[in-house]
Amino acid sequence: MARQLRTLTSAAALCATRSRITVLTGAGISTASGIPDYRGPDGVWTKDPKAERISTLDWYLHDAEVRALSWQSYLHSPAWGARPNAAHLAVTGLQRAGRLRACVTSNIDGLHTDAGTTGVLEVHGSGRRWRCQDCPATGDMRELLDRVRAGDPDPRCPDCGGIARAATILFGELLDSRVIEAAADAAQDCDLFVAVGTSLTVHPAAGLLPLAFRSGAPAVIVNEQETAYDDLAAAVIREPVADVLATLLGVVADPSPVSGRAARPPQP
Ligand code: ZN
Repeated sequence: MARQLRTLTSAAALCATRSRITVLTGAGISTASGIPDYRGPDGVWTKDPKAERISTLDWYLHDAEVRALSWQSYLHSPAWGARPNAAHLAVTGLQRAGRLRACVTSNIDGLHTDAGTTGVLEVHGSGRRWRCQDCPATGDMRELLDRVRAGDPDPRCPDCGGIARAATILFGELLDSRVIEAAADAAQDCDLFVAVGTSLTVHPAAGLLPLAFRSGAPAVIVNEQETAYDDLAAAVIREPVADVLATLLGVVADPSPVSGRAARPPQP
């Protein structure tokens, strides 16, 4: 294997020669926006394993108390007040420059879309929407959170009375195969794969990097901690992603043209 690039300047020089870049992002891209990393050293689950129950399908479907905890968790989520940071805006800059093949994220916070990136592949779904477990009904998460705020601890589907839930992927259920296939296509069809703020331990998203590598694309990893695939990467940058991503990608992280979509619920 060729000597690995470890400076931002040399990694940026590699990125500058590429025009079909697939970016995979994890929790580490949103920590600078104030959203905790659930699995990192200071993560919510690392500190309180019981918190994981609200993200586990069996617990959620069979225990009303777990659902009530889950709704309270969404109601008080820091994601509602969060703004995209310079790293999200850098991905948008890359797309506007015509050099982004795809943005794949395991985050459910919607910050890439807030930053103006379009067509984001959200492999773990979105916490911005709810859906019914029993019928096709779906809607804006804020509709049900309004009912929680008004005193309903476990709001049911307005169409059928079934169990309502966030439109995220819970532990114990399958990912959306269309999203996963599109992400795999983007990994195999890029000329550079950039993994940002992810430890690359949760599959199948983590497997996209070796998939890109086998398809001939070099990989760049930007993460403050070691990752599972550092050995495969052409460059590894261990710096805070919000500080370095625009420089790495050779774009200006312009904070002005954020999408006009209202992201926050009315405050209590
Ligand atoms: Zn329903």
